[in-house]
Amino acid sequence: DRASASSAPITDGALADGTPVPLLANLGKPEGAIDAVALGAEGVGLFRTEFLFLSSAQAPTVEQQREAYTKLLSEFPGKKVVVRVLDAGADKPLAFLNDAHEENPALGLRGIRALRASEDILREQLTALAEADAATDADLWVMAPMVATVEESEYFTDIARDYGIKTAGVMVEVPSSALLADRILSYTDFASIGTNDLTQYTMAADRLLGSVASLQDPWHPAVLRLIREVGDAGRAHGKPVGICGEAAADPLLAVVLVGLGATSLSMAPTALADVRATLLKHTIEQARDIAAAALAASDAASARTAAQQAAAGSA
Ligand code: PEP
Ligand code: MG
Repeated sequence: DRASASSAPITDGALADGTPVPLLANLGKPEGAIDAVALGAEGVGLFRTEFLFLSSAQAPTVEQQREAYTKLLSEFPGKKVVVRVLDAGADKPLAFLNDAHEENPALGLRGIRALRASEDILREQLTALAEADAATDADLWVMAPMVATVEESEYFTDIARDYGIKTAGVMVEVPSSALLADRILSYTDFASIGTNDLTQYTMAADRLLGSVASLQDPWHPAVLRLIREVGDAGRAHGKPVGICGEAAADPLLAVVLVGLGATSLSMAPTALADVRATLLKHTIEQARDIAAAALAASDAASARTAAQQAAAGSA
């Protein structure tokens, strides 16, 4: 009956050979947690904290933030929850962090750059996160957006650890940080690849501009090569490399990403079921072969076709 069908346990994300690939949710508000869990999210791979404050004129207080983060974390006892500190700028301006006019806000004072320029706001956010962590039983990981240099990565890792954050990492969504992932991961605890911005910056194509949408394609082998750099660095250092951009929600691309070294995938919860089913069709060796086929292509369309052919041979 319907009740028993809907309460049937959903298996954790894994490949055909049993290799675990935790499947996590991208969330923008704590209220999304209930549906995400119902759809089988094993935790949260990206909590976009800036979504809470898009209409705020003033920086949120520590108390306001502690309440929101406690609500989120309490939905995931014993589970991993990756919270991103405020990613302000460009497509997500925050009045209290982005005040100056910029010709090219995507290339401006955004993400970790904006937080560094208003370090009190970063410190208050870390205070609230540490307090919410102490009040709940989730496994809290905290990461910085738009990190472009090794120095920024070390800055964020140090300041997060100063506040007692046990697992501090960075997003890789700028090509420079993908290319230097081996240096970044020698220090910070984990990387999470934001394929939306990584594609935008690799292809020099505004993610919001319809006229260049054909370039905003994470199947592009240039993007896949950068992801491979990060995957290789993660393997070399024994550090987790997640994916939290939209690419993880494309089931075949999800297989490619795992073949390139991704150790977990985070996506809109509605995409979890299809990705879970497709991962189960391929072993890790096959995922690596499928990824190699895509990497060998010279454009996005042929990478997808090559992956489809390789996957048809291995499914
Ligand atoms: C990304 O850039 O891929 C990402 C996950 O972050 P956002 O979409 O919030 O910029
Ligand atoms: Mg981004």
